[in-house]
Amino acid sequence: MLQVRQLEVHYGGICAVKGIDLDVAPGEKVALIGANGAGKTSTLKAIARMLPASGEVRLDGDDISQAAPHTLVGRGLALVPEGRGVFARLSVRENLEMGAYVRHDSSAIAADIERVFGMLPRLKERAAQTAGTLSGGEQQMLAIGRALMSRPRLLLLDEPSMGLSPIMVDTVFGVIRDVVREGVTLLLVEQNARLALSVCDRGCVMESGRVTLCAPSAELLDNPAVRAAYLGE
Ligand code: ATP
Repeated sequence: MLQVRQLEVHYGGICAVKGIDLDVAPGEKVALIGANGAGKTSTLKAIARMLPASGEVRLDGDDISQAAPHTLVGRGLALVPEGRGVFARLSVRENLEMGAYVRHDSSAIAADIERVFGMLPRLKERAAQTAGTLSGGEQQMLAIGRALMSRPRLLLLDEPSMGLSPIMVDTVFGVIRDVVREGVTLLLVEQNARLALSVCDRGCVMESGRVTLCAPSAELLDNPAVRAAYLGE
């Protein structure tokens, strides 16, 4: 579904992503793990065309490396950015409606809002509340719910656990598990490597802008170097 070849991201003179290759098959769940500053967020943003980058990105075999970012939603790609990026002055319901802006099937959109409310009852309770006044965890749920409103086939999730209490992390990851169970393909960037590998089939380790290791999650969880560097052992 997603093929990345020789992806490079530069910020002025700094090369943050140094020619990485990455493949994600349909229905696969892949975690991108690594230390702060390894280039994970830059990689996700470059795939979603939110940053200028060189190299090739293919979605369903089509080269999207020059595509306008807003066209990717219609092709089935949705990014939940680090920091969530909810529309602070809009209500929860309006944020969800914004997630469906590429769709015109109003009765199906209304049904999908109810589906999101079913998965995330906290959002239903707060449907009329301004998004900027939600807690961090509620905003994370809203950001995921908003992405689901475009009916993505490939979901790019950036640090969904960041800044959340352990209970809220469990809730948010419960939702992520529900979403991938329905067959959505996932590329997950996450500081909490153990959690990421528990959700994903495969993990790729990024170090200083390079992917240094890709392996099934079970193998990475057993790998002494990975355990020492990323699993706190
Ligand atoms: P974290 O886990 O801390 O979010 P990351 O692996 O997602 O880290 P990136 O955010 O992609 O890493 O950053 C990679 C490198 O690029 C870092 O050295 C960072 O300082 C640099 N960088 C990121 N954004 C910018 C920017 N807008 N301008 C300059 N340098 C940047």
